[in-house]
Amino acid sequence: ARSDGRGGVRRYDPGMRAAAEAARELEQELRGALERGEFRLVYQPVVTLADRRVTGFEALLRWASPRLGPVGPDRFVPAAEAAGLIGEIGAWVLREACTTAAAWRRAHPRAGDLTIAVNVSAAQLTSAGLVDQIAVALAESGLPAGALVLEVTETALVRDPEHAAASLTALRALGVRLALDDFGTGYSSLAHLRQFTVDVLKIDRSFVSTMAEGEVMPAIVRGTIDLGRTLGLEVLAEGVEHDHQARLLAEGRCDSAQGYLFARPLERPDAEAVLLEQAAC
Ligand code: C2E
Ligand code: CA
Ligand code: CA
Ligand code: CA
Repeated sequence: ARSDGRGGVRRYDPGMRAAAEAARELEQELRGALERGEFRLVYQPVVTLADRRVTGFEALLRWASPRLGPVGPDRFVPAAEAAGLIGEIGAWVLREACTTAAAWRRAHPRAGDLTIAVNVSAAQLTSAGLVDQIAVALAESGLPAGALVLEVTETALVRDPEHAAASLTALRALGVRLALDDFGTGYSSLAHLRQFTVDVLKIDRSFVSTMAEGEVMPAIVRGTIDLGRTLGLEVLAEGVEHDHQARLLAEGRCDSAQGYLFARPLERPDAEAVLLEQAAC
């Protein structure tokens, strides 16, 4: 072992050590980020494939750290979970998303049925406070429960299936809708559909991206749409980037989609502009 020049001794390789330091720094910056107002939501439109009308938005969390710069949710959400901060952050996301959606539904005459989808991580799903947080967010915003869609992943469900099932039952009793996010990427997706009752199936982007120009629908996408329809669920495809994908999905009777083809996640004023534009046609 060599000295690291700061009085310590290097026990493992520099790469690991740098990673551990980066993780510590990330956690430190995350503490207090909420109070400092560093989080905001962006909103990605959900469109119907039949006529490409915006029926709702998915709220996606963004963090602008003055010290670290922009950090993606794929990195900071797991860090926030590990640091025990996801409860507070998640509660803020729910309040913000519900308040925004309620305002949009009031302000835009043709947006009366608009839905808002919020991502819920594994740690949130099994925490005791989630159901209360949601009830409070709905009551304070005046958003009808049916307008809120909670997106959960299979991975989150299997981490603690008993707790997760109890949470889902309590959430359904509130009247909120549930979506199974990243469908098909988890282990044993079919078994989960039987164990956990949901309203929406979200076909993962990794399957949509295999849909090449001039080819027929990949069997796995076709199968997922048919399965969802048979079970009476809404089927939504994520990560639609090309027109041929949208056309094929529409022909296959997939209900709705999200993706860069239609819109990227939008800052709030840009999302409002989309609603205004739609109201004008
Ligand atoms: P997700 O829920 O699967 O979200 C979809 C991700 O795909 C988003 O990345 C979105 O910006 C991106 N995306 C949308 N359309 C396209 C497309 O056409 N092409 C490509 N290449 N990408 C597309 P984002 O915003 O970076 O979020 C990453 C993940 O972080 C989310 O995956 C979700 O699991 C998590 N996340 C985001 N916001 C929240 C939040 O408020 N709470 C929790 N717990 N997790 C969140
Ligand atoms: Ca999602
Ligand atoms: Ca997803
Ligand atoms: Ca995904």
